[in-house]
Amino acid sequence: MLDLTYETPKPKVIQGAKGDWELVIGLEVHAQVASAAKLFSGASTEFGAEPNSNVSFIDAGMPGMLPVINEGCVELAVRTGLGLKAEINLVSAFDRKNYFYPDLPQGYQISQLYHPIVGEGEVLVEMGDGTARIVRIERIHLEQDAGKSIHDMDPHMSFVDLNRTGVALMEIVSRPDIRGPEEAAAYVGKLRQIMRYLGTCDGNMQNGNLRADVNVSVCRPGDYERYQKSQDFSHLGTRCEIKNMNSMRFIQAAIDYEARRQIAILEDGGTVEQETRLFDPDKGETRSMRSKEEAHDYRYFPCPDLLPLEIEQGWVDDIAAALPELPDAKKARFVSDFGLTDYDAGVLTAEAESAAYFEAVADGRDGKIAANWVINELFGRLKKEEHDITESPVSPAQLGGILDLIAQGDISGKIAKDLFEIVYTEGGDPAEIVEVRGMRQVTDTGAIEAAVDKVIAENPAQVEKAKENPKLAGWFVGQVMKATGGKANPKAVNEIVAKKLRA
Ligand code: ADP
Ligand code: MG
Repeated sequence: MLDLTYETPKPKVIQGAKGDWELVIGLEVHAQVASAAKLFSGASTEFGAEPNSNVSFIDAGMPGMLPVINEGCVELAVRTGLGLKAEINLVSAFDRKNYFYPDLPQGYQISQLYHPIVGEGEVLVEMGDGTARIVRIERIHLEQDAGKSIHDMDPHMSFVDLNRTGVALMEIVSRPDIRGPEEAAAYVGKLRQIMRYLGTCDGNMQNGNLRADVNVSVCRPGDYERYQKSQDFSHLGTRCEIKNMNSMRFIQAAIDYEARRQIAILEDGGTVEQETRLFDPDKGETRSMRSKEEAHDYRYFPCPDLLPLEIEQGWVDDIAAALPELPDAKKARFVSDFGLTDYDAGVLTAEAESAAYFEAVADGRDGKIAANWVINELFGRLKKEEHDITESPVSPAQLGGILDLIAQGDISGKIAKDLFEIVYTEGGDPAEIVEVRGMRQVTDTGAIEAAVDKVIAENPAQVEKAKENPKLAGWFVGQVMKATGGKANPKAVNEIVAKKLRA
């Protein structure tokens, strides 16, 4: 049901010394499940807690402890899968990925290599210029997060904080369908948006709740189309994986650097080694972390502590029935029901909360006017103070009240902006403020006529000039508005000035 009326964005092309190259990108996004408890223990997932205070015996890898699956995490993974239009696997299984690291006390990570809970899905990635691409999702599996080693607190010692150990992650693996750095960022942004709508991941990248491993390769024009037709990866170049990126800006910078590095190697007659690399934001470079051969030695095997995970179709159906309206559908509805531009609908649906705010304002009112006020006045004002929509001091009812006063001709658009500022900073009922402060616009044509007559009488020279050049009428309108404290109905003033100057 994805909208395919979009044009497909052009792949990023980099001109090498020996011809053009295209980028091919696949992402493995790690999204922290929005669960208060960990995947296999009841320990808290609270961010910023005292180090090592949220660590159960299970998380600490104590002998004899047995993991117990957290049903809430499973539900959120299913919900995420459904939100990405993906196949839900009624039977999945957990495997142990064995490796040694101080932040992994168990000596293995419990993950789902062979039988993930979510299979193939898709995401519509819009580029904001009217182009969009469908990025295929290969799978989503549930797995444990690791702890955090801290090497910069003491010159002689390293520390470890196990609070994150065992926290549930969803690893969302894309097909290599992404064709440029901006698309990669837009893809992560879209996943984040959908998961925030679903309430399955808060998407907080600063806290590390959404991170991406970015796989990059380069190929010659035409090769990607050959891969698409055959799904044969041999048409694509060798990829490198850049680990653990938690900023949209760094993701783009890393992809760009990495593509250029690979092109330089290839044009020099060399071969790209498949390896894991790290991005250094200070230098803007990626550097080798480990080669893929070492990395592959994980000795995966089915986790003997956990039975295969079986879920029922009825349960999945219930979760599906409870899904909220998702961004693509909401945006399309805003365009068709309120006559909004694609761009404005996109801005309003960026977050579920701002969409709900807009709908409350637009209810029973002109949708386009409501959208203009929400986007330009409210969002603009909130941004100034770095507030988000949930912190808005102006409620939808208050903003709606202001729009009603404009629609009824009680205030002009200009006075409405002053009124908005008053409501924003002082609160109160807009209609009452207009009454009490005498902000109602003068629509009484008699009063306006009197004001116009006065200005005309006081400025005979200007009147002569305006009779020759009708464009000068604007000066009279300005004088009348000034004289009436901006409260005269501008349309009426314009008409009366024009009429009197003609006389
Ligand atoms: P691994 O398990 O070794 O990480 P996967 O098959 O799971 O390998 O692929 C990991 C990611 O790499 C996926 O997101 C996939 O789309 C991406 N990928 C695979 N081949 C390429 C390629 N040639 N160029 C860019 N990305 C690729
Ligand atoms: Mg991988």
